[in-house]
Amino acid sequence: MKKIQKILVANRGEIALRIMRSAKEMGIKTVAVFSEADRQALHVQYADEAVCIGLPPSNQSYLKGDLLIETALKLNADAIHPGYGFLSENATFAKKVTEAGLIFIGPSPESIVIMGDKLSAKEAAQKYNIPLVPGTPGAITDIEEAKQKATQIGYPVLIKASAGGGGKGMRVVENSEEFESQMQRAVSEAQSSFGNGAVFVEKYIGSPKHIEIQVLGDKYGNIVYLFERECSVQRRHQKVIEEAPSAVVSPQMRKAMGECAVMVAKSCNYFGAGTVEFIVDEKLDFYFLEMNTRLQVEHPVTEQITGIDLVKEQIKIAQDEALSFVQEDLKIQGHSLEIRVYAEDPKNNFLPDIGTLETYQRPQGVGVRVDDGFSEGMTIPIYYDPMIAKLITFGKDRQEAIERMRRAIAEYKIVGVETTLSFCDFVLQHEAFLSGNFDTKFVEKYFSVDKLNAKNNETEMNVVAALIGKLLSEKNNSSNQKENNLLSHSNKKSNWKNRNR
Ligand code: ADP
Repeated sequence: MKKIQKILVANRGEIALRIMRSAKEMGIKTVAVFSEADRQALHVQYADEAVCIGLPPSNQSYLKGDLLIETALKLNADAIHPGYGFLSENATFAKKVTEAGLIFIGPSPESIVIMGDKLSAKEAAQKYNIPLVPGTPGAITDIEEAKQKATQIGYPVLIKASAGGGGKGMRVVENSEEFESQMQRAVSEAQSSFGNGAVFVEKYIGSPKHIEIQVLGDKYGNIVYLFERECSVQRRHQKVIEEAPSAVVSPQMRKAMGECAVMVAKSCNYFGAGTVEFIVDEKLDFYFLEMNTRLQVEHPVTEQITGIDLVKEQIKIAQDEALSFVQEDLKIQGHSLEIRVYAEDPKNNFLPDIGTLETYQRPQGVGVRVDDGFSEGMTIPIYYDPMIAKLITFGKDRQEAIERMRRAIAEYKIVGVETTLSFCDFVLQHEAFLSGNFDTKFVEKYFSVDKLNAKNNETEMNVVAALIGKLLSEKNNSSNQKENNLLSHSNKKSNWKNRNR
């Protein structure tokens, strides 16, 4: 068994920093790589060594697989952690890393290939009788054939890119008249985004919840599930608020989903940390969507409720260690929420609002965790995802985690760019969110700029009212105080008088 001594982290921002922190706790040295836009970045400052690997556009730096491998070899790193995004789900890169004699901290290239394609993932899962959303078993290129299948499935349907990710290449089709044009769009979007125009058709679930299961597997076939994450609050099919556990999942459902997720992982001989995503309908029937073969953005909520450091587990698995716990050892403790704080303007259609963080003060205190890659004075580069931070809270129950999150949002001071903090606060106050029973249409159904403004005004009014109340009571106190002073003064006098009496 080879112990990893030095890891090159092939990523940037909060996730690079988060990985390095676990490595440090394990006594492992780290190498940061950075583009010219990230010269001042925190992950660069944190690492034991740092190397500039190119120009700001990611295809000229963070996506240069061969250069990353070369850098790792040159600096005597023995492993590469890809984080999420960039090369994390690139099987060719994973293979090349291993062929260069390095350890890839992630699953095998074969697992990535199977799960990287939504169709082959479904095919693998089907062998284990995993419930799937009704749809075409393979890719379809012929529009007429696809249309026939859509009629058989029943409208509305969803056309999906087989190689899809990040919500791209997905089209909802309400009726047969619009099928042709939507399919053409989906194919061209899939072609331009993924270089692969293969699409398939699936039943569109009307009010779906997105619930996913975290799994961990070692190289000896042991696989466990670390319960669910509820990720239904989404914008344009992208998650914005996540929590664990889900308010709608019963212990029986949790066990059934967890066991299903383990089967999905088994279907591709999975090892490492992975996430099995399910779509859940109104009746709480769940269907396998896809498996992400990497660490997820929202992994901290699972860490909070299980006490397991997922990055450490990834590293241990990569260096051939067996899992040190079994399913029965895992328990849910408390409740955790995560919000993604983006440099985006919720009042302007969430347009990225890139700029300098003139003021940047993180919230602190019990139950608050901030995973970020910025500090005051830094500029958010335009080249990458505009996420500033992930704000995570932990509480004894859901209510406390929510209250804590609202307190943390109020403490978070960011000046210089617009952020999604006010939008998240809006969601957290909404009765649909508070009820726990909401679906992926949450934003569409309940959010508008007017409502956000109204909530902000209401909050401001409350603040003003509280301030006025405070001033009035202070005024009363001070006049009472004056009276008291006078009283005590006259008392003193009388005391004096008394004393001299
Ligand atoms: P991607 O890989 O692009 O993220 P996913 O398959 O994970 O695509 O789906 C992303 C989101 O799209 C889901 O969380 C869900 O909100 C929505 N979605 C996916 N499939 C369906 C479906 N069959 N019906 C309704 N919504 C869906």
